[in-house]
Parts: sequence; structure tokens; C-alpha cells
Amino acid sequence: MTLSASSPVSWPPSLWAATAPAGPALSALEGDQTSDVAIIGAGFTGLSTAIHLREMGVAATVVEAAEPGWGASGRNNGQVIPTLAGHDPSAMVKRHGEAGERFNAILRDSAAYLFDLVRRYSIAAEAEQTGWVQPVHSPGRFKLAEKRVLEWSAIGAPVELLDRAAVSAMLGSEAWYGGFWNRTGGHINPLALTRGLAQVALKLGAVIYARSPAISISYDNNRWTVKTADGTLDARALVLATNAYTGEFAPDLAPEIAQEVIPVLSWQMATKPISDNIAKTIIPDRQAMSDTHRELYFARWDAGNRLVTGGAAMFPGARGDNLRDYVGARLKRLWPQIGDVEFDYVWSGYVGMTPDNLLHPEVPGFPRFHEIGPNGYAWVGCNGRAVALSVSLGRAFARATQGEGMEALGLPLSLPKVQPLQPIVRKIAPFALPLYRHLDAQEI
Ligand SMILES: Cc1cc2nc3c(=O)[nH]c(=O)nc-3n(C[C@H](O)[C@H](O)[C@H](O)COP(=O)(O)OP(=O)(O)OC[C@H]3O[C@@H](n4cnc5c(N)ncnc54)[C@H](O)[C@@H]3O)c2cc1C
Repeated sequence: MTLSASSPVSWPPSLWAATAPAGPALSALEGDQTSDVAIIGAGFTGLSTAIHLREMGVAATVVEAAEPGWGASGRNNGQVIPTLAGHDPSAMVKRHGEAGERFNAILRDSAAYLFDLVRRYSIAAEAEQTGWVQPVHSPGRFKLAEKRVLEWSAIGAPVELLDRAAVSAMLGSEAWYGGFWNRTGGHINPLALTRGLAQVALKLGAVIYARSPAISISYDNNRWTVKTADGTLDARALVLATNAYTGEFAPDLAPEIAQEVIPVLSWQMATKPISDNIAKTIIPDRQAMSDTHRELYFARWDAGNRLVTGGAAMFPGARGDNLRDYVGARLKRLWPQIGDVEFDYVWSGYVGMTPDNLLHPEVPGFPRFHEIGPNGYAWVGCNGRAVALSVSLGRAFARATQGEGMEALGLPLSLPKVQPLQPIVRKIAPFALPLYRHLDAQEI
């Protein structure tokens, strides 16, 4: 995508773009600017890094290609979940040893930290700390919930195992067989949160430039230089917070990082407002829910009685509109009382997958953390689950740039590893969906 200082930013037709408070008025980067830390990307990671740097009294400048929240942070389902999509604490420790233990502690506390930050700065983000539930879609998967509860409670997370009756009562549906429950989770309006974080960062004295795609980064004479079309930003440290959108505006910015992830399009949909008498029978206490299907079932309420859900499209280039009937029928199966559902909003965003096995590109892998040069950090691989994590990572990155390095990040830093088959896998990933539907249906 090409964008310049004078281009109007076009927003996805999302519920969040229609309902979030306006973002701050920002200028584009012009001329030669200096900061202590340069941050590329104004999503949760970049803005949280800026806030935590300013809390430490450190100069922070954010350079955003579009506007804050234009990437995944403004498009997601808004579920605040303190786990990874694919791995539990023991897998993290097996892979990363002590660093895995530190990372697990960051992740364990990440949802609580996000809601605390929202309260601390009074951010109007429709935040509801109602908890996060992962119901299991087959009796066999109950074992997974049991394992998850054991592992997370062993490291002090406030989690509980729910039996079938408890999950039915919580979700108002007989479709699931029990589940995993963490009361620190919940949901937010993600674009409102991103814009709120931008306002907080500005208030604390950070500088944010918008409509300023970074086209290159370089390191020389102990300083980083970020170049845009109309200016440069010179800084001692750099945080590349562009995540799954790294290659979107400038393919040469950090190709080895852009090609480390498989960007998979995830479709989000919001129903028309549902009447109160029906709404109170569906997830009556308004928890955030995403289940154990490979082809994920997920839903949460917004502030206007809309159910926000979605799905994956089967073919590359498929339009999300084709999903209306499919996802509507699913909702009716789960909650017959909802009837024939109409959707007011359908939009999409890229989830950055880091599959550990390229033959299974939709199976979530581990996130990757990189030192891209002296005092230069980046991460990719949210695997569709890092609203809470990215806010906590912002705090870790801020500390890392101030000399704490890897200890603050919690994970061992690695060198970016290009997936040689990435361009091909990116194209064929949606074709895996029928296989995942089939495997989901086979489970007992
Ligand atoms: C559709 C969807 C649904 C999701 N649902 C959930 C959910 O319910 N719960 C959950 O936990 N996680 C979810 N996720 C994942 C979550 O949204 C992300 O993990 C999180 O938002 C990542 O934030 P970030 O700041 O690292 O990246 P982003 O928000 O993507 O920010 C990157 C920013 O970098 C900017 N950028 C890119 N290139 C340049 C450049 N050259 N110069 C300057 N700026 C640039 C982009 O414009 C963008 O604003 C979902 C993701 C998607 C896409």
C-alpha cells in the first residue's frame, strides 16, 4: 500500500471505526527530528512503549504509516486474553528455559495490567473486565482445559475449570462441554483503546507522527536513523512495532521480519443490535469467549448490544460478505433464540502467524523477539492473541531500551528467520480451512 503525508487515511468499515472516539490530530514527520527512542508503528505495542518511556522521563517519538490503530490494534475482536493461542506455560519453559518462566509471568499478568492501565489513565475504551472463557467443543478437549487449568494455576494465575453445566450457564448455550476460565480477562473497544493510548502518550510528552511510512532504518555512529518520504528521525534506540503489518507500506523496511510471519486474513463481523430480552440469554454476564475449534468460534458483546464475532474465509481474495450466511447460521446453531442474524459491519485484518510447522500454517506458534541491532528491538507472531500481551510488551520494550535488555523482555532474543516458503504459504494458507473444519468435526 502507498500512503504519504497528504493521503487521506481510509479506515476499514469496522464497528470500531464507527463507534470509537476520534483520534488525536497529528502531523506528518517533516525535516530532521531527534529523540532518545524511535518507535515505528502506533498500535498497542508502539504506543504502550511510548507511554512507559515517558513515565520514565525518556524522550519517545512514534512514526506511524497511517493513523494510530490502523493496523491489527484497531481491527481486532477486542478480547483481552492472558494466554497464547497455541502454547501453555510448560511449552514456553521447554523451549526457552528460565526466560520462558519470565515470559509466562508477563503473560499471566497481562490482562490485569491492561485493565489497570485503562483505569489509571481513565481511558474511554468500553473496557469490561468480565473474564475470558475458553469453552471446549468436544468431550475429548475437556482434558485440554484440565491441563491448562493445572499449568496456569501452578504459576499463580486465577484460573478455574468449568464443567458442562457451568459453561452452559455462562454462555447460555448447550453447545460446549466445559471450559477454561480466567477472570482477569474481558473485552474492550480496541480502536478506542488505541486512540486513548495515543492521547495518553501525547499528554505525557511523547511525539507521534501520522501518515509517515518509515521507508528505511539504518544504524551508524551509535545512532539509528528512520527515514520517511519527507524527513528523518535520529535516535539512540529503536523499537520496530509494526508486527504483522511490517511489509505493508515499505517492503524493504525489514524484509527478514516481514517474511517471518504468515499474515492470515481474519474476518470480523458485528450483528445489528440484539433486543435486551434475547441479549440477556446469550453470555448474560458478558464474558469474552473464544473456544477450542481450530476454526475458532469467538464472540463478545459491544456497548451497543451487538454481538461481535467472525470467521475465516476459505479462498485467498474471498470477500468477507460471503461469510454472512455461514457465520449467521453458526450463531443460530449456538443460540437458536437469536434467529436469522443480520450483520451491520464486516471487516478484516491481518493476524501474524508464526507457524512452528509450515505444513500447518494455521496452527499458532511462538512469538518471536529480536534484537535488530544495538538497542534495536522488534517482535512478531501474535498469532491472533496479543491485545493484552502487546500492551505489556510495550512496557518491556521501554525497559529494554533503557539498559535492561533481554531481562525486561522476558524472552531470549533471536535473529529473524525468514520463512523461505512464506510467499507461497501466505497464498495457500486459506485452503487449509476445509481440513481444519473436517478435523474439528472428527473430534470426540
Ligand atoms: C482481525 C483480528 C482479530 C484479532 N482479535 C484479537 C483478540 O480478540 N484478542 C487478542 O488478544 N488479539 C487479537 N488479535 C491480535 C491483536 O490485534 C494484535 O496482536 C495486536 O493488535 C498487535 O498490536 P501491535 O501494536 O503489535 O501491531 P499493530 O496494531 O498491527 O500495529 C502496527 C502498526 O505499524 C504500522 N506500520 C506498518 N508499517 C509501517 C511503516 N513502514 N512505517 C510506520 N508505521 C508502519 C501500521 O500501520 C500499524 O498501525 C487480532 C488481530 C486481528 C488482525
